[in-house]
Amino acid sequence: MRNLVLSVTLACGLVGNAFGYGNAGHQAIGTIAEHYLANTRAGREVKNLLKPGEGLDRAATWADRAKLPEKYLTDEMKGFVTSNPEHHSYHFCDVPFQEKAYHEGITGSNSHDIVHTLRICIQVLQSPETSPENPLKINKRVALMLIAHYIGDLHQPLHVGCSYVDEENHFVDPEKGAKGQADAGANYFRFTKTTTLHGYWDTQTVKLARDHAAKEDFPTYLVAHFPPMPGWDAKGPLGTWPEQWANDTLGLAKQCFEGIKLSNRTLVPKDDKNEEHFEWKVALTPGYAEKSRDIVELELAKSGYRLAALLKAIWPEVAVPKD
Ligand SMILES: [Zn+2]
Repeated sequence: MRNLVLSVTLACGLVGNAFGYGNAGHQAIGTIAEHYLANTRAGREVKNLLKPGEGLDRAATWADRAKLPEKYLTDEMKGFVTSNPEHHSYHFCDVPFQEKAYHEGITGSNSHDIVHTLRICIQVLQSPETSPENPLKINKRVALMLIAHYIGDLHQPLHVGCSYVDEENHFVDPEKGAKGQADAGANYFRFTKTTTLHGYWDTQTVKLARDHAAKEDFPTYLVAHFPPMPGWDAKGPLGTWPEQWANDTLGLAKQCFEGIKLSNRTLVPKDDKNEEHFEWKVALTPGYAEKSRDIVELELAKSGYRLAALLKAIWPEVAVPKD
């Protein structure tokens, strides 16, 4: 069973619909970050790295577009994919949702998960372009675009927390010694043949939030209704910020699984995307839609703010000496 858990965890990155907050969500995060970067040195550095007319909203979807079939990739994406064949796994980790904190070696973490990858991208932006410490073999422009995307993913609860399910359809915590199969970020929890709980959090929640904003411009609505709060600021060295954000999100992942009942456990044979694994049928509880929408509105606003905060910490304002 342990082997199955491991193989299924590793197979998560191959699941096709793990696209973070979808284009609309990631674009909103980029636009919100630009709002907080207005008239700052960091804002100017970002502009220098992006192409003319390319904003952080567009940059924030680059990492997902790099997952498309080769014929759709730019030369820049092809270079990234060739140097990073495991790049699908950079978008998530699968920490048991019952846990309080991400830490090195915890179930569902690995050296190419979202926390590790973000840390490396931050290092690339902080180091000289020619630094030998660059395991992803990326330049600063690509590092910036990856950060703009992965920060969004890190605020999607099911890209951080994962459930593990035993043979009686109960959620268990492998960190406590229990045996269970990973849900692949809830990609193995299905409403219908083509819709999953993961997909619901990626796109349906963002759609609900956009509908909630009604006629207001979506990023403007999020900035206005969710002003920065003291708990949004990370502390200490920048390399520790991804882990702090992961811990924050892990607390929300618990809520994704609250009231979720699993049924119809079905063994799915190995195919070209996944190892043999179980899948379950799920249904949402009353009030789940409103609860998930509220969480996602807050998370989108928070991740836009945090993206800007990180870039401002990488490129602080240069003090002008007084004469
Ligand atoms: Zn992603």
